[in-house]
Amino acid sequence: MSTLEIRGLRAAVNGTEILRGIDLTVSSGEVHAIMGPNGAGKSTLSAVVMGKPGYEVLAGSVTLDGVDVLALPTWERAAAGLHLVMQYPTEVPGVMLDDVLGEALTTRGRSTDGLDALLRSEAASIGFEERFLDRPLNVDLSGGEKKRNETLQLAVLQPKIAILDELDSGLDIDALRDCSRRVEAMSNDPDSPLGVLAITHYSRLLTELRCDHVHILVKGRIVTSGGPELADVLETDGYAAFVPAEELAEPAAEKAPVRPGSLDDLFAM
Ligand code: ADP
Ligand code: MG
Repeated sequence: MSTLEIRGLRAAVNGTEILRGIDLTVSSGEVHAIMGPNGAGKSTLSAVVMGKPGYEVLAGSVTLDGVDVLALPTWERAAAGLHLVMQYPTEVPGVMLDDVLGEALTTRGRSTDGLDALLRSEAASIGFEERFLDRPLNVDLSGGEKKRNETLQLAVLQPKIAILDELDSGLDIDALRDCSRRVEAMSNDPDSPLGVLAITHYSRLLTELRCDHVHILVKGRIVTSGGPELADVLETDGYAAFVPAEELAEPAAEKAPVRPGSLDDLFAM
């Protein structure tokens, strides 16, 4: 049983406060959805929890089973059991998917015996083509194939808590069903149930991935929390039903372009 605890988290980018006091607790086996308009700070939350450079934590704490996550470099956060499925997965030329997963398992003190067979069976279960397994990570994959690849990595690494930043973006209906079903199954694993923080715009992700809690994030704050029915209300009424129109965030500002394929875009969101 693991718990990710976010308390009073405030964070800034380029001197602008984006997260303005986030409280959230995600435990093993729970699925929490975070929904909110563009620019609300959803990706910023995932970036701060995973330790993307360039984000300044102003206040608050993030702990995983009592360990101060914010004090750790990103790779140690991952090794401790935090996993981010990126909104825009990065292409890493020259680095093979199976090598990445082998190294990651070794770092976690786990055996790589049978990794090949595991990769093949996981790939089959989510419709990821086997021929992509020994190719450079994400290179030349379509948007949907990249998201299937992210889901495959999640299933192989078996973290304690996963943050999914818009797993549904770029996925067609079939891929969405395959990927969200796989995550749902992980959250129901009797031996080590995955805790999930699923960032999404659409309740369709939550058809297969059954959420226990829905939180609405607006302008860096969680303004409402509720059960799964909240996602359906949002789908029909939009955010205006929960916050006054003037409180709704502006569309996200243009960001500086990142150099394709460079390490700059490892966490691009
Ligand atoms: P969401 O994922 O909810 O759409 P983001 O977390 O990506 O929103 O962005 C929240 C706000 O922070 C936006 O106004 C965005 O422009 C700004 N922001 C995020 N990352 C950066 C960055 N690296 N540099 C400048 N502004 C940023
Ligand atoms: Mg985002």
